[in-house]
Amino acid sequence: MRKDVINLNKKGNKKNNSKWYIAGIILLILAIIASIAIYFYMNKNKDKENTLAYTDLIKQVEAGNIEKIEMTVGSTSLKVKIKNEDEEKKAIVPNTQTFMELIQSKVQEGNEIELIQNKVNPLVTISQNLFSLLPTLIMIALIVLLFQMQGLGDKGKVYDAEEKDTKTKFDDVAGLDEEKHELAEIVDFLKKPEEFHKMGAKVPRGVLLCGKPGTGKTLIAKAIAGEANVPFISMSGSEFIEMFAGLGASRVRKLFEKARKMSPCIIFIDEIDAIGARRTSNSGAESENNQTLNQLLVEMDGFESEENIIVLAATNRPEMLDQALLRPGRFDRQIMIAAPDQRGREEILKIHSKDKKFAEDVSLKTISEDTAGFTGAELANVLNEAAIIATINKHEAITNQDLDDAVKKVTVGLEKHSRIISDKDKKLTAFHEAGHAIVSRYLETQNDIKEVSIIPRGVAGGYTMYKTNEDKYYISKTEMEEKMISLLGGRAAEKIALDDISTGASNDLEVATKIAKDMVTVYGMSENLGPISLKTDDPNELLIYGEKIEDVIGAEVKILMDTAYNDAQKILLAHMDELNAVAKKLLEKEVISGREFYEIVG
Ligand code: ADP
Ligand code: ZN
Repeated sequence: MRKDVINLNKKGNKKNNSKWYIAGIILLILAIIASIAIYFYMNKNKDKENTLAYTDLIKQVEAGNIEKIEMTVGSTSLKVKIKNEDEEKKAIVPNTQTFMELIQSKVQEGNEIELIQNKVNPLVTISQNLFSLLPTLIMIALIVLLFQMQGLGDKGKVYDAEEKDTKTKFDDVAGLDEEKHELAEIVDFLKKPEEFHKMGAKVPRGVLLCGKPGTGKTLIAKAIAGEANVPFISMSGSEFIEMFAGLGASRVRKLFEKARKMSPCIIFIDEIDAIGARRTSNSGAESENNQTLNQLLVEMDGFESEENIIVLAATNRPEMLDQALLRPGRFDRQIMIAAPDQRGREEILKIHSKDKKFAEDVSLKTISEDTAGFTGAELANVLNEAAIIATINKHEAITNQDLDDAVKKVTVGLEKHSRIISDKDKKLTAFHEAGHAIVSRYLETQNDIKEVSIIPRGVAGGYTMYKTNEDKYYISKTEMEEKMISLLGGRAAEKIALDDISTGASNDLEVATKIAKDMVTVYGMSENLGPISLKTDDPNELLIYGEKIEDVIGAEVKILMDTAYNDAQKILLAHMDELNAVAKKLLEKEVISGREFYEIVG
């Protein structure tokens, strides 16, 4: 496949948005604090000129310079008028009584001091106090506002959602018979917990559902709730990450609080790896994450036996999870939800075709055979796309062609007829795709060609489509090597035919390199390292094998890649006529079928 380098990192964008949002709020707060500080500072300066320090006040009293004192009952602050000064000054006395005794003694000595004593005027004091409290009040209002916004977000974003009356049943989940069988026990427990308690039976508290996105983990969790007729409370781990500090843990607490009120019920935590990743050092965002995880552990340990709550969690990366999560009493049961096999796919297609109209010659079995590796979500998507395409084409019912187009749309993306491609680009793409096709043709383990196209689709400039055969559980070393050769066939053809190379091979290179890396580090297939698993999420772990191991891995991967590239070149050089003929045909027709391809290459 020829892919343009386009960054489609949507998730990253979303994160950035929320970062900007938080940054904005922080800026706002800083601005307000700054203005308050300035306000205080200026006021203070003004006050300073106008305030008499206590020692100075005493000096003035002793000197007999006081003309007038105005004070309020219960307040230590007072106003004084000093002889020969226009303005009254403020002063604060530590102890009103001592101060008054001093004044009295001065009056007795013959000083004329006008003494005004105000009764407390509640309105005045409150408004004065309010004024002095203003900055504090603004701060409090802001904090409340922040939490409010957080709360509003809750309602809009639905951090946790509950369905009291889930209609989903096991029958809505196609395939996965063994998994359903295993989970039926939980349904029984939720239905009649007393019986289990009476017998002293221990039912798992937490079940971890492991599998790729779209394989039906949420669906099956919901079906458990539907079968047992209990509420389904769900939330996604990834949402915790975007929250303000400290809120993750409290959110977990609230989630379980809610569940306890609704028990018996099911809690479903999607993408649990987002909060349950292995705990690390106690720094910054990580310790925030740790808090959330710790709270989850605390909640799960705190279950009383009469609380009939089952926690289901889904992840695609169980190996990332903190080991503490998998201990007894927590997620001690794990169920693999694999992508469906051919029969499973046929059943899923059946379920999702219930409300759709198909042309008579459409066979769900054929579609299921053409979609090896598709998840349930992708299959549902294919049928929906086919219905859309059929509607646009004004077909009476969904045809085989609509379905074919839908499969392509889901795998490679939409055809882009509008993109204007230069002749040079077209030629490059034609040779690139012809290269993939020809190289695969001469490799034993590679699948037959179904279609080759130089019409851009999605992010791909062109594509070579293979027929799929039945899902395999094991892949041989030869097969992996040959897959790399066929992937590098595109780049090799560009070089040989046009003596130039393009960015279009970036995805091929990425996939091939990943295969090579896996061969060396995961499957122990490299000559120099032999049978050893170096699979790890933490690059530091490699150090236990010695520091040189990285270099050896790199060298081994390079050998595999170079060998594959050389082999691809060799095959192409031996079949130059065919390469030219296929590329020419592609430039002519833009799409050639498998049949047309084999007419040229035999
Ligand atoms: P996950 O939680 O594993 O990412 P979901 O349960 O959200 O996947 O699946 C998404 C959608 O795909 C479901 O709503 C359903 O329409 C479809 N689907 C997935 N697996 C199956 C299945 N086994 N049977 C029927 N539909 C499925
Ligand atoms: Zn390619």
